[in-house]
Amino acid sequence: MAKMNIVFTTSEATPLAKTGGLADVAGSLPHALKRLGHTVTIIMPYYRKQIRASGIKTRSLKRSISIWIDGRDRQASLHEARVNGLRFILVEQDDFYHREGLYGPAGGAYSDNLLRYVFFNRVALEAACLLKHPVDIFHCHDWQTGLIPLLLKTQYRHQPRIARARCIFTIHNLAYQGIFPPSWLHRLGLPADYFHIGCFEFYGQINCMKAGIAACDRITTVSQTYAREILTSEYGCHIESFLSDHANKLSGIVNGLDVENWNPRTDTSIATNYAPGKMQGKRHCKVTLQRKLKLADDAKTPLLTIISRLVEQKGVDLVLDCIPGWLEKGYRLVVLGSGDPAYEAMLTRLAKERPEQMYFYAGFNEGLAREIYAGGDIFLMPSRFEPCGLSQLIAMRYGNVPVVRATGGLADTVANYASAKQYGTGFTFACATPAAFRSAVDFAVETWRKPAVWQRIAGRAMRRDSSWDASALEYEDMYKTAAD
Ligand code: ADP
Repeated sequence: MAKMNIVFTTSEATPLAKTGGLADVAGSLPHALKRLGHTVTIIMPYYRKQIRASGIKTRSLKRSISIWIDGRDRQASLHEARVNGLRFILVEQDDFYHREGLYGPAGGAYSDNLLRYVFFNRVALEAACLLKHPVDIFHCHDWQTGLIPLLLKTQYRHQPRIARARCIFTIHNLAYQGIFPPSWLHRLGLPADYFHIGCFEFYGQINCMKAGIAACDRITTVSQTYAREILTSEYGCHIESFLSDHANKLSGIVNGLDVENWNPRTDTSIATNYAPGKMQGKRHCKVTLQRKLKLADDAKTPLLTIISRLVEQKGVDLVLDCIPGWLEKGYRLVVLGSGDPAYEAMLTRLAKERPEQMYFYAGFNEGLAREIYAGGDIFLMPSRFEPCGLSQLIAMRYGNVPVVRATGGLADTVANYASAKQYGTGFTFACATPAAFRSAVDFAVETWRKPAVWQRIAGRAMRRDSSWDASALEYEDMYKTAAD
């Protein structure tokens, strides 16, 4: 296959800046595409604080780009970082991107996010015009890059470096569409005629994701089940009929994982390395974690774990409903997460009541996340909807057997032990009710008490191929058909 010049535009990517699964995907899929022989450049904002904290070295490209936005010319400078042979181009504009959070303060959103990302989209296209070779594919991710397909087809259609590029738009989470009041329109420096029902307009509001869906050549989402679900009123977040109009260009490609980075054999953040069939190390990780978190040490008790954004999507209410019963039964629970302050307050209170049984860390902490993936027995992910989910993939890789709601990518990646005893890699339940979740967790705990059976389930989960290999080939194929 002819080698392609692919540009990823994204609002976050590992290892430079991360709030969730989008960063994992944007930082790891390019490596898999590169292994297939393609050139991939990632363009993202230069979040000075977070990138500095990542320890990745950057250098100035000594290029600046001027964009008319919000009634004036605003400058962006371009920087570059190289990570394992992959090139990142970073858009520096400190007023926009040198802040406490990527998208907002804890639990909130910056009021000028529309300006921040429209500016990013426009600079990203200008930066792509400066690349040495013409771009074949723009791969855009989520609403923060939704304007790129539209601008590419309109204002940039005569730019020689990018005019022939095809544009893929990946929906990582339809619940975040980038919706803003129309009063922002005149501040964006964009033609007013973009604001119509077939494109940027949504019940009188601005909708960035809609612009991406309308103007791109192919839409993908991150699992096949989610690709079907988003065409229904239950999961379609009010744009299901608009999406259905574009369903001929929609498909689902399940996310992979950076299996080098997430590897219990080599992970330097965990107490002892381990592998399927050699699980003593995992037992040591559990003991070490429990001691560190001052939980009562008892080999006969399962350690339940959660690592999640604390938002309604993730079924945190179901967890809260079940916690008192679990603690009564003597289970141990570790929760790592941040998000809705009300959820954080409730988890803090519950953990304070039974510190020997439950630990809650409010915040984002990758090192602790790794220790929890490695030390946990059972990983809980009762999502109300889940486009793909990477946490359950990581948990399986670390032999932390997941209990998940059978929705979206969770349904596509976790094989239910209850219905497939020979193949099961976890436990699934159907209804988003505390009763259904509780009984799935109880069944998992019952199964955990049978060590030989449990070891087989954990072994299968750890051996599951969650690498990018198969999905990168699917993307490659799709890029090619988009270009034909
Ligand atoms: P989403 O992108 O919806 O948040 P995913 O399951 O796709 O959910 O990806 C979540 C990613 O973020 C995983 O890599 C997970 O380990 C990580 N993560 C989530 N919350 C935290 C946290 N509080 N601290 C560290 N890592 C976290």
